[in-house]
Order: sequence, then C-alpha cells, then structure tokens
Amino acid sequence: MIFFADLHIHIGRAGCGAPVKITASPALTVEGILKECSERKGIQIAGIVDCASPAVLADLRALVDRGDLTALPGGGLDYLGKVTLLLGAEIELGGPQGGSAHFLAFTPSLKTMEELSQFLSGAITNISLSSQRASLEIQEVNEFVVRELSGIFLPAHAFTPFKSVYGNCVRRLAEIGVDFTALELGLSSDTYLADRIHELSNVRFLSNSDAHSLPKIAREYNKLKLIKPDFAHFCKALAGDPENIILANYGLEPRLGKYHRTFCLKCERVVEGAPPVYQCSRCDSDKVVVGVLDRITAIADENEPVHPPNRPPYIHQVPLEFIPGVGKKTLNKLLEAFGTEMEILHGTSLGELEDVVGTKVAENIAAAREGRLALAEGGGGRYGRVKNHQEC
Ligand SMILES: [Zn+2]
Ligand SMILES: [Zn+2]
Repeated sequence: MIFFADLHIHIGRAGCGAPVKITASPALTVEGILKECSERKGIQIAGIVDCASPAVLADLRALVDRGDLTALPGGGLDYLGKVTLLLGAEIELGGPQGGSAHFLAFTPSLKTMEELSQFLSGAITNISLSSQRASLEIQEVNEFVVRELSGIFLPAHAFTPFKSVYGNCVRRLAEIGVDFTALELGLSSDTYLADRIHELSNVRFLSNSDAHSLPKIAREYNKLKLIKPDFAHFCKALAGDPENIILANYGLEPRLGKYHRTFCLKCERVVEGAPPVYQCSRCDSDKVVVGVLDRITAIADENEPVHPPNRPPYIHQVPLEFIPGVGKKTLNKLLEAFGTEMEILHGTSLGELEDVVGTKVAENIAAAREGRLALAEGGGGRYGRVKNHQEC
C-alpha cells in the first residue's frame, strides 16, 4: 500500500498549555496535527518530533486512554484508523570539532520514548522544550536509541547553516563515527545536491516539513510503499527491504528554501554569483550566512549528482501557499472541492481546477507543478518566492 509520510512536525503547546517549541504555533498540538494530517493534508504517517517532552508524553497517554490512539503491534500509534503517529524527538548535540547539529530519534513505543526522555533529561537543562542541546556525544545517543530502544537515529536538515552536521560540524559524516542509515535533506536541499557527496550513496534520504504551523505540514513529504503503516515496516524501508520502499521524495524547490544561497547580513540580500560564495560582491563583507547550495558546492566530490541505483526520484513541488492567487479563501475552496492538498497538487486536471478557481489561478497551479514558475532564491532565513510577471 502507498502512504504519504511527513516525519518532522513540531508541537507548539502541550494540552496543559505549556510551551514546547516556543517559536511554533499553539495550534500544533498532538490532536491538532493528527486532524490536519487526516482531514486536510492527506498525510497517513506523521512523525511528531517533540515526544520526549513530559507534557507531550502526558498528552499521548491521555489520547491512548481515551481510545483515540492505539499502540500498533509493529510500533507507532494508530489514530482512529486514519494516521500512524511515529514518536520522535529532535535533539541538539555537539560535533566532534565544535559546532552543533540537530538529530532526529524515533522509537517504536510510548514506553521506549519515555526511556529516551529519561535518558536525555539528565543531560538537557529543560527537557520540556523542543530541540534542546544535550551534553552527550553523538555516538552515545545513537547507541542508546538504536541498540537499547530499537529506534532510528539520523541527522536532521543536514545542510542548513545553523544546527546541522554538514553545515555546522563536519565536511564528512565519517568524521562522526556513526553509520547513519538515513538523513533528512532539509528544505533548501534535494537529492540532486546531496548526491554530489559520495559517502551518501548508501544513505536513504528523507524529505520532511519541519513544520512550525499547521499549514506548513507536508510542504515536504515522502511517498512510501509499505506492507503495513507501522514503525517496523518504516524501518524496513530505511534498511533497503525490497517489499518496503521509499518510492519518492517530494520537496520544496530548493531555491524557495530559507537557506539556499549565501546571504549578506550587511546588505540584507541574497548574494549573486556562482556558488560557493563566502563574501558579498556588493559590499565585500564576509559577514554572511552561508547558503546550502554554497556549502554543498564547497564540500562536494562531484560537480554533478551521481545517483546510486536505488535512489528514488525527488519531485519538486511549490506548496500551494507560495502560488500567486492562492490565499486562505481560495485554498479553502480548493479543499472543499478536492479533499486534501495532496489531491489538489497531484490528482487534479487543469480543467477541474479551472472550474473551481478560474483560469488564472488554475494555470499558476499547473505552472508550479511543471516547474514553469520563475523563482527568486531564498537565503539567510528568508524564503525564496515566486516572482511576479513584471520581474520575469
Ligand atoms: Zn532542527
Ligand atoms: Zn553585502
């Protein structure tokens, strides 16, 4: 069976009102996420990455007691037969030569997530909050998650300038001394960029939203073929099992990502020129935020991607919220007509779209699908955008 999976979703507030990810929307509660995934997004496997917070664990237990969540025999929790919830935690850890990076740990059950929470609580100042720095070695956490808890451990948004392995810690994963089976590409990067690094040929790529609000869920996601939608079968897909497969990665066109190109902090503009750029060509300042494209170009083994034979296709998408003419009202109209965003983006014809939102918007959606929209590159924490007609 085919499932769409977004495995990096944050919690804004716990049910008790306590903040978890302070910068995330309070509408991101466990239930809010599961409803959004099933009712609007068309996501069947949701990874929530703040489950090690005791307040979130309490919410999860309450949903189990109420019967809305049911532990699956293969791991993960079933939400009303509609969505599988995978229990995750985002953790910040220091790199071998300084710098620090975010990692994602997934565990099969509530019990093992409680054990992870316990394990981390001694090494984190405030375990209630999301993505906190733990005073532990990367290898140590990997050992605990993979061996003790039968979980998964992988680098998050692996190329971003802050808090990522390649962006902020090492030039090669081998320097960390952990054999990662998977890595999250992040919004500003894709398979074409990452496959310029040889050591990643045996690593599976995941594309997740890192959503800090409900609308941003599924701006990146994975298409999976699994015998069953549970933790064990997801692990099989990462291990290269022939029956359980990552069929495709769907992700933001990287130029729209917040950190795609180097950004000059003095001019407050994305730099120009062939990557890698470390110095602004306008003002000569080297006070810059290095872009993902610039970083990958600097450390790549190849100028062009070399895809291993098992690498699934990476399909670029422009999320509906980026498309000119698609405001809140239009989006609701589209959802009413077609059900989920997944269906609007991938399952509709131009004619069907035209009937609901008129020719202009329908054509913009079709142009986005086919990669025909002109884009301005993002950088320094600002998203790229679709250029309007005058700029083209
Ligand atoms: Zn992160
Ligand atoms: Zn400048």
